[in-house]
Amino acid sequence: MLITLTDAATKIRAANKILITAHIQPDGDAIGSTLAAMMILRSLGKNAQVFIDDTVRRNLQVLPHFEEIRRPVDGETFDADLLLILDTSPDRIGNVSKLTDAPILNVDHHVTNTSEGVDLYDEPKAAATCEIIYKLARELGAKITPDIATCLYAGLATDTGFFQFSNTQADTLAIAAELIRCGVSPNFISEQFEMKTLAEVRGLAAALNSLKIFYDGKVAGMTLDHATAKKFDSTEGFIDEIRVIDTVDVAFLITEKAPNVCRVSMRSKGVNVSKIAAELGGGGHIRAAGCTLKMPLADAEKILIEAIGSGFAN
Ligand code: AMP
Ligand code: MN
Ligand code: MN
Repeated sequence: MLITLTDAATKIRAANKILITAHIQPDGDAIGSTLAAMMILRSLGKNAQVFIDDTVRRNLQVLPHFEEIRRPVDGETFDADLLLILDTSPDRIGNVSKLTDAPILNVDHHVTNTSEGVDLYDEPKAAATCEIIYKLARELGAKITPDIATCLYAGLATDTGFFQFSNTQADTLAIAAELIRCGVSPNFISEQFEMKTLAEVRGLAAALNSLKIFYDGKVAGMTLDHATAKKFDSTEGFIDEIRVIDTVDVAFLITEKAPNVCRVSMRSKGVNVSKIAAELGGGGHIRAAGCTLKMPLADAEKILIEAIGSGFAN
């Protein structure tokens, strides 16, 4: 059921033991929003714990209280009266769903979130889930400490490409300004988040070497096979290097994370890539979306290129 932000705040006020989670393959918004929510709820006297069922890439591990995030182990349960799911629909939280049967409160900004049977506050106009958590903190009367502000700022910065993408609204910048007043060091977040290992830079070189152009230059794509991809931790930012090509509308990167498990990232300047991703079982936003295709890399590339071609027609 779709609910308002005030309803979401009421549900949080009524709960005492809150399990917080976000999507697997977590990004800065997933980790920033869950950690900020944990600190906000604890400041209101609640028992709050973050679980994420995945590894978290190194750059995000600098966020305050990162070390308190737990990963569910087989057979584990967690006593909660509310499961707060952030930055995704409930189908991308891995085994966190097995930890509790508590009612779900889902807070998200993905246009593709069509969760049914749960309380959902979805605000596709919000640049990041962290923007919504900021508003929720205000609604709940919580104080925004420097640690909370840092986590919220991290999510805003990640999902807007450091305030460059079209989802950057006046509100986004106003909230970012307020977070800096609350104690964020913007340069700390930028420096930590842009940092790459030597292996990652070599990985970027390998990805760029694979560059192919389709549809008269409107589409640019890169692929990383498993033998190459396993040498480094993160492909964050790789796709941005080809998104900038002047003729390109849609850019994609396919990374074979494990044999026959291909993770697809898409970025666009016009075409609605969330529709293409949703057709392939994924989701996302109009200009940034993704999916996972369980098949050999060459097949994934073929299917994706066809789907992008139909995207131009629609
Ligand atoms: P990425 O390219 O990984 O940065 O993802 C871009 C956007 O697409 C993010 O908003 C993700 O949440 C979304 N996305 C990526 N992969 C998937 C997936 N397998 N299912 C649903 N949404 C996804
Ligand atoms: Mn996310
Ligand atoms: Mn997000």
